[in-house]
Amino acid sequence: MDYYSAQIRKLIDELARLPGIGTKSAQRLAFHIIHMPKEQVEQLSKTIIETRNKVCYCKTCYTLTDEELCPICKSEKRNHKMIMVVEDPRDLAAYEKTGKYEGVYHVLHGAIAPMLGIGPEDIRLKELIKRLEGDVEEVIIATNSNLEGETTAMYISKLIKPTGVKVTRIASGVPVGGDLEYIDEMTLLRALEGRVLL
Ligand code: ZN
Repeated sequence: MDYYSAQIRKLIDELARLPGIGTKSAQRLAFHIIHMPKEQVEQLSKTIIETRNKVCYCKTCYTLTDEELCPICKSEKRNHKMIMVVEDPRDLAAYEKTGKYEGVYHVLHGAIAPMLGIGPEDIRLKELIKRLEGDVEEVIIATNSNLEGETTAMYISKLIKPTGVKVTRIASGVPVGGDLEYIDEMTLLRALEGRVLL
């Protein structure tokens, strides 16, 4: 017999489906939610639903946004001839936090991982190549420094080189296997400044 009522069990099970949330955390969150003021719970649920409904991909760089173009792609202050390729919108956020990068981005939403059956057509690569038809001077590949990230970097570089656009890779000061998201800003800046020509 379950020691929680069906409704409480349902909430725990839903929460436990979220990444990084084990059964214990799910229980803690469920009881926290149950004790929250009703208005706050309504606000939280409303925000989750609204966010899910409104957020879409920027039609240029494919980061997540709630408008046709994200604020970076829209900005006239950014250098639109310099495109930094990242795996994930969180990587973009990590570089933005440094406040020192003036170019724009392209978010792949993943990396090539043959072992997992993820090929070039499964990430936003075609869209990147399409962007190169415009006025682009440099593509900075800032995929993660793990196997998938390196494979993706090599693949992109081979694809772009014949077009004559300069292709660089962020320096390998970034720890191997490191997720860009967890790397401090100084390290990211050093990696960017020390980028090498591919
Ligand atoms: Zn954008």
